[in-house]
Amino acid sequence: MFDEKGYVQFRSDWQHADPPRHAVVEDLIRWRERLYRLGLIGVYPDGIGFGNLSGRTHGHAFIITGTGTGQLATLTPAHFCTVTAFAIAENHVTCVGPVQASSEAMSHAAVYVADPTAGVVLHVHHWGLWEKLSDRIPTTDPHAEAGTPAMGAAITQLLEVGVPGGVFIMGGHREGIMAYGTTADQAGERILQLFETHGCR
Ligand SMILES: [Zn+2]
Repeated sequence: MFDEKGYVQFRSDWQHADPPRHAVVEDLIRWRERLYRLGLIGVYPDGIGFGNLSGRTHGHAFIITGTGTGQLATLTPAHFCTVTAFAIAENHVTCVGPVQASSEAMSHAAVYVADPTAGVVLHVHHWGLWEKLSDRIPTTDPHAEAGTPAMGAAITQLLEVGVPGGVFIMGGHREGIMAYGTTADQAGERILQLFETHGCR
């Protein structure tokens, strides 16, 4: 149940199924391609992928890119699954689709719960922006690490205080940045604006 750092381990109940069918998938594929080209989503030299995108379907359920898709330049609906239920404190998700949800799905879940208007959540990695903007724009508690229930709680706390621009730094997740919006275009433009304004690559 606990990993070496004492965190509740991420667990997922995965039901294998056909790719999700929902209009938001096409929007996510389109934005995934743009963010991938900018290097904001991709794969590290050690083969570990980074960055993930999601879109709300109904209630707190959402469609998210699957784990292990970071290296692909273009995605298809077969690279997505639907998170139908989750328990942030227990670090547990239930997902349905051809691939499993990433352990970062919990961070997306926290946004959907905290802000009922959030329709799309984008998570990218960028060292330069992360370093430059930490504590200059809304930033989560640096003690809360990626993929832990503490990160979910830190996101909830931050959104309760308010994230006016819809973009925040994940303080305890090196390189981690999240943007959200009512639509994929709104969330995507928020990332692009940050990227262009602070022009570091
Ligand atoms: Zn990340």
